[in-house]
This record gives sequence, structure tokens and C-alpha cells, in this order.
Amino acid sequence: MTNRLLIVDDEKEFGAFVAKVALSAGFKVKLTSRPQEFEAVAAEWNPTLVALDLQMPEMDGIELLRHLAANHSSARILIMSGVDGRVLDAAKRVGVERGLDIAGTITKPVRAKDLKAMLDGLKIQAPDRLDENALAQAIANGDLFLQYQPKVSLRDGALHGAEALVRWRHAAQGLVPPDQFIPLAEASGLIDDLSRTVFTQAIIQQRKWAEQGIDLQVAINLSPLNLHRESLADDIADLCHEHTVPTERTTIEITETAAMDNALQALDTLTRLRLKGFKLSIDDFGTGFSSLTRLQRLPVTEIKVDQSFVRECLVSRDAFAIVKTVIDLARNMGLTSVAEGIETNEHYQVVAELGCDLGQGYGIAKPMMADSLGLWWKGWRGAT
Ligand code: C2E
Ligand code: CA
Ligand code: CA
Repeated sequence: MTNRLLIVDDEKEFGAFVAKVALSAGFKVKLTSRPQEFEAVAAEWNPTLVALDLQMPEMDGIELLRHLAANHSSARILIMSGVDGRVLDAAKRVGVERGLDIAGTITKPVRAKDLKAMLDGLKIQAPDRLDENALAQAIANGDLFLQYQPKVSLRDGALHGAEALVRWRHAAQGLVPPDQFIPLAEASGLIDDLSRTVFTQAIIQQRKWAEQGIDLQVAINLSPLNLHRESLADDIADLCHEHTVPTERTTIEITETAAMDNALQALDTLTRLRLKGFKLSIDDFGTGFSSLTRLQRLPVTEIKVDQSFVRECLVSRDAFAIVKTVIDLARNMGLTSVAEGIETNEHYQVVAELGCDLGQGYGIAKPMMADSLGLWWKGWRGAT
């Protein structure tokens, strides 16, 4: 468990002073004076405490408070300023009314000793556990949110879609990756609730992008257990209709192991999803033990070569052979092939030359907040 302090101040010296005191109090510290950087760090680093200067010529402190509130920040907030007490109090009220946890105010200048005492009092003490109750709370409170990783066409670099990847914004632990709580959700019966918030957020976001003229195929990950719920296909389809998102523009990703689930209900759900128009993708292909007969019987539209093979394909002949075989298999079966784990230009070139349709990976873009996608896309010129 770490205490993470984000300092926003345009006065470099004062910011550095607060940073130094906070480091001595045991905080990890990030310091910024730019609004865009602030927004990115607040979202991705998930600070436990934000120290915010109200008076900055190029930034509006109240605006930043509004941003934190809109993003459901769980950080405690310290408002700092040299302005008089009444302005500080008014700003504090604005924050509280927006549902923020305003922990206090600091009038500049402040003595190191007093600041340290204040910061010590604002540390989160007990590490909150990632247990079933906490996860149920997080789902109910809207603390789960999605980041999106672009999928691009390997033929011409065009933006094809984005995969929604869930994260947990946890007050004490920061941003918790899905590997740390999906198994918990599966074991505790929370996975249906979890997936519901995931596909609801994803489809609402897809609608927002469409309104901005960004037409994307959005991919959603489902757990094998979700397939056992009889109403699943109807639930997702209803949501698409409600938000006027064509079902054809949504891809459901299930892992190879899940797709090979022999239960009749799983096959039933997959078939109904296809009948309703959804695209179906087999994720992490090559890690399970699928039989080709079974693959042929499944109503899938896309195969994702597991990223471990893609990452290794430059150095391992076996990995290269697997990547090539899966791409060929997809082509021969009339399915879309996707290479995940493209970390460098070399990976990109290799899979593109093998005729893979789509690519995804850190070398193209890391998962990002929905709002950042438009900006990333403007800067993306395809692999060189
Ligand atoms: P996945 O579906 O195979 O998603 C790809 C994972 O690989 C993501 O990790 C992504 O950030 C990471 N990744 C992408 N490109 C690269 C790369 O170039 N290099 C490396 N090293 N990694 C890369 P993330 O977001 O931590 O997700 C992990 C897994 O958690 C996902 O694997 C998926 O199985 C599961 N997951 C994520 N979101 C959901 C969800 O909403 N529902 C369910 N049921 N599972 C989810
Ligand atoms: Ca996936
Ligand atoms: Ca995968």
C-alpha cells in the first residue's frame, strides 16, 4: 500500500518544497503544473491525496476540482493558496458540494513542520483488502472503469476499434489491474454484476464516440461464467438498442479455454450472440487446447493470436511458426486475425507481412482513458 500525493502548483519552488516534505512523510510524489498532465496522472496513477494550488495563472483550480469530481476521484484533497481565508473556504465548499473529500486547506507560506504534521495525518493507514465485500462495493459505487486499447488495421494503419479493459480505482491500492480481481469476481458470484457494468459503460462510450464522429468496433471481454447466464445475449442486445449502437459494431471476446467449454448453455449463448449480430472473438488463441473440429463448429468471427507468441516471434522460431499458422488458419476459415502484444515496429512488420488483419499492443498504443483516444488517433501515423 502506498500513499500517493499529486501536487498541482505552478510555483516550482513551493511545489518542490511540498514534495520534499511529503517524501519525508513517506509519500510517493508527483508534481505537475500542466492541466492535461494533471488529468492523465489523476486518472492513471490514482493519487490518494491531491494538493492543489488555487491560484495559478494558466490553470483554474476550481476547474480541476470539477474534473476530479467528474471522474469519481477517491483522493483526499488539500487546497493550497496564498489568497485570503474566505476564498479558500468558498473553494472548499465547492469541492464538498461536488462530493469530493476535501481534507483541509493550507495557507501559503507554511512551515515544514506544520506541513509534515498535516500530511502525516492524511496518510491512509490500514491497507484495505481486495475482498468480496470491497469488490461488491466498488461495483455499486462505480469504482470500476474502462480503459481502451486501439486495434488498428495492419494493412493501412487505419483505426479499426478498441478493446475495453476494466480497472478498479481503489482508494488505498491505487489502480488495480483486472488480473487481481476478475478471479475474485468469478469465485464470489460477482462476475455477472461486474460484466454488466463493463458492457454498460462500453456501449455508452461507443455511443459517445459515434456522436463525435469516431466510429469504432468496441470489444468487450466476458468471463466463461457469464455465458452460463441465459439472459446474457438479450441483456447486451437490449443495451445496444437502448443506446442505438448496432450489435454488429460490438465484439465479444472470450478466451480460448472458455470457448471450448463443453456446456450446452455456453454454446447456446455464443450462438445467440452471433444471431443477434455481435462479432465473436477467441482470445489468447494458442494457449488452450482447442480441437480444430470444435473451432470449426463455433460461430466465431475473429481469432486473436496470444500475445506471448507475438512477443516472442522475433526471437523464437517456434513462436513465429505458431503466429504464422494461426494467421493462416484464420484466413483459410474466413475469420479475422488479430495479433496482440505488438510491442515494437519489428513485431508490427512481421505480423503485417504474414497477412494478419489487425494489430494491438503497447507499440501501437497502451490502454488509455476514453477521452484520450481522439487525441492519440490524431497523432498516430501508422507504424513506420
Ligand atoms: P486480454 O483480454 O488478453 O487483454 C490484453 C491484456 O494485455 C491487457 O492487460 C493489455 O493491457 C495487455 N497488453 C496489451 N498490449 C500489450 C503489449 O504490447 N505488451 C504487454 N506486455 N501487454 C499488453 P490488462 O488490461 O491488465 O487485462 C488483463 C486481462 O484481464 C485481459 O487479458 C482479460 O483477460 C482480463 N480482462 C480485462 N478486462 C476485462 C473485463 O472487462 N472482463 C473480463 N471478464 N476480463 C477482463
Ligand atoms: Ca481480450
Ligand atoms: Ca488476449
